[in-house]
Amino acid sequence: MTRVAFIGLGNMGSGMAANQAKAGREVVAYDLNAEAVARATEQGMTGAASAAEAVKDADIVITMLPAGKHVSSVYLESILPNARKDALLIDCSTIDVDSARTVARDASMQGFRAADAPVSGGTAAATGGTLTFMVGCREQDFADFEDALKPMAKAIIHAGSNGAGQAAKICNNMLLGISMIGTCEAFALAERLGLDAQKFFDIASKASGQCWSLTSYCPWPGPVPAAPSNRDYEGGFAAAMMLKDLTLAQDAAEAMGASTPLGGGAEALFKELVGRGHGGKDFSAILEMLRGKL
Ligand code: NAD
Repeated sequence: MTRVAFIGLGNMGSGMAANQAKAGREVVAYDLNAEAVARATEQGMTGAASAAEAVKDADIVITMLPAGKHVSSVYLESILPNARKDALLIDCSTIDVDSARTVARDASMQGFRAADAPVSGGTAAATGGTLTFMVGCREQDFADFEDALKPMAKAIIHAGSNGAGQAAKICNNMLLGISMIGTCEAFALAERLGLDAQKFFDIASKASGQCWSLTSYCPWPGPVPAAPSNRDYEGGFAAAMMLKDLTLAQDAAEAMGASTPLGGGAEALFKELVGRGHGGKDFSAILEMLRGKL
C-alpha cells in the first residue's frame, strides 16, 4: 500500500490528507497541533508524534504549512534527514519562490525528487478533492508527482522547473487581487452614477469589462448567488490570505526588478482592509471598504 506522510493538518491540509486516505493510501499525519492529529486519527489515519517519525518509510511526503520559514525548517530538520531517498517530496503550501527553490535544491543535492505544488481553490476544494495544482519540478518527474497528487485534484498542471509552481500561483493571485479591486471600483462608481447594479452586471458581463471576479465571484450581492457577497462576505477566500499572496508577489517583483504598480496598489488596499480588522472576511469585501461601509 502506498504510504503518504502528511505534515500540516490545518484548514487545507486536513481535507487533503483525508482524500489521500479515501484513495486507499496509508496516511501518517502530523501537525504541531495535537488536536488536528487526533481528528486525523478519528478519520482512519495514523497519527505521528513528530514530522521525523511521519516521514520514515513514506513513499510520498506532502507538506501544507503556513509560510516559507515553516517549510524550510521542516525540510531541513525532519524530512531530508529521515525520509527514504526514493520518496517523492511535495510542498503544497503557498510560499516565496526563493524558499521553494532552495528547499528543492537541498533535496535534490541529497538525491530526492522534489516539487513545489501550490493550489488554487479554498477549503471546499481541499475537502472535495477538486484543487488545481501548479507544479514546479523536473519534466521527467512530473508523471510521478501527478499520480501522487491525483486524489486531491481537479487539475494538475506542470508549470516548469522547481519554483515555477509558486511563481504561477503568486502571479495568478496578483491578477485576481487587481481584477477584484477593478470590479469593485466599477460597481462603486456605477452606484454613485445611479446605475442599477444588476443592469451594470448584465452589460459588463457581455462587454469588454468581463472577467472572473465579475461573472463567477461577483462582489455585489445578487447577480452570482453562490458568491460570498450574498453571505455578508463570510467564507470564501480570506482577505488576509489575499494580502499574504500579494505581499509575496510584491517581494518577488522587487527582487526581480519587475514593474507591478497595480500589484503594489492592490497590496496597499488589502493591507488597509486587514488593518481595519476584516482579514477574516472574503476578499471581495474590499467593495464595502471602497463604498465607505467598512
Ligand atoms: P492553517 O494555518 O489552517 O494550517 C497550517 C497548519 O500547519 C496548522 O495546523 C499548523 O499547526 C501547522 N504547522 C505549522 N508549523 C508546523 C510545523 N513546523 N510542523 C507541523 N505542522 C505545522 O493554514 P491553511 O489555510 O491550511 O493554509 C496552508 C497553506 O495553504 C498556506 O501556505 C496557504 O497560503 C495555502 N492556501 C490556503 C488556502 C485557503 O483558502 N486556506 C487556499 C490556497 C492556498
